[in-house]
Amino acid sequence: MDYRRLGKSGLQVSELSFGSWITFGNQIKDNTSEKLMKTAYDAGINFFDNAEIYADGESEKVMGEILKKMGWSRDSYVLSSKVFFGAGGKLPTQKGLHRKHVVEACNDALKRLKVEYLDLYFCHRPDKQTPIEETVWTMHNLIHQGKIMYWGTSEWSAQEIMEAHMVARQYNLIGPTMEQPQYNMLVREKVEVEFSQIYKTVGLGTTIWSPLASGVLSGKYNDGKEGETRLKRAELSSLSDKLLVKETLEKVKKLSAFAKELGMTMPQLGVSWCLKNENVSTVILGASKTSQLEENLKATDKKDLLTEEAMGKIDKILGNKPKQ
Ligand code: NDP
Repeated sequence: MDYRRLGKSGLQVSELSFGSWITFGNQIKDNTSEKLMKTAYDAGINFFDNAEIYADGESEKVMGEILKKMGWSRDSYVLSSKVFFGAGGKLPTQKGLHRKHVVEACNDALKRLKVEYLDLYFCHRPDKQTPIEETVWTMHNLIHQGKIMYWGTSEWSAQEIMEAHMVARQYNLIGPTMEQPQYNMLVREKVEVEFSQIYKTVGLGTTIWSPLASGVLSGKYNDGKEGETRLKRAELSSLSDKLLVKETLEKVKKLSAFAKELGMTMPQLGVSWCLKNENVSTVILGASKTSQLEENLKATDKKDLLTEEAMGKIDKILGNKPKQ
């Protein structure tokens, strides 16, 4: 496993990390979650991603139990949570990025995860109802209280991230270190174009999500096979409608053939492709089975097969390279 700096911070995260969205406390049994965490940690993954909203807090509870059971030294892994959507509560006080919710959500995440501090704490979405000053001050204070180490954003625009940095500069506070955007062969604009300046100016780190576009880029939907998979879940029907379309599946078929030519599997191609972007600090993997995780972990060794020429061929198949 290779390690990369999280933006300009000194923290080194494994280039592949592991997240629990949809799976922990929901799609898979707890003993599978345990096997997945162990497989990840044993392979050198040092960053585990979570959020208050995942299974309405259950995902954090499951991860907390596993961390306790494994007894891994707290200084050997990086743990995150995210605040914004709430953990199931529907009241206005139970969500958003105002001071009350951010502080309460952080305390609740610490209890559920059974740890004394979070390494990374993300604002899961921007909050138009809360002044940015309030959120930046709150995150800064959480760092000073020792409850979090670094704070960041998820699915914020470059402008919103810069506003947070300007506020931080104005009041001498700690600004956001990292952003968690979606990035994969189908979704490229934000990571490749919109953020291109702020990697340099503020040293933004990125922990990217859905490297396989929820499984479409694994190639398993190429032949329309049904099964107990994420995109067959009723609550995700709008995501499936968006992803399982003819044009995308045709491209994935071509990419799957190219992956074979290169000597890797389609999931490995999807993950390796994300790793080729040097502005990606870590690629957060998701998996519902240990066999999937084992396969995807090999991307770290396969990424060098993606030469400039190979990347060019992939761009040709995708036809979506954003203009700089
Ligand atoms: P992926 O796009 O990689 O999707 C993972 C899913 O794809 C798996 O659960 C599995 O689903 C399927 N899959 C993975 N590998 C294989 C394989 N080798 N063969 C076949 N199927 C495979 O990542 P996620 O969407 O899970 O995102 C990763 C993490 O990013 C999340 O856990 C979360 O921590 C974070 N995230 C953050 C968001 C944010 O807003 N900040 C939003 C979404 C995710 P199945 O077996 O069910 O088909």
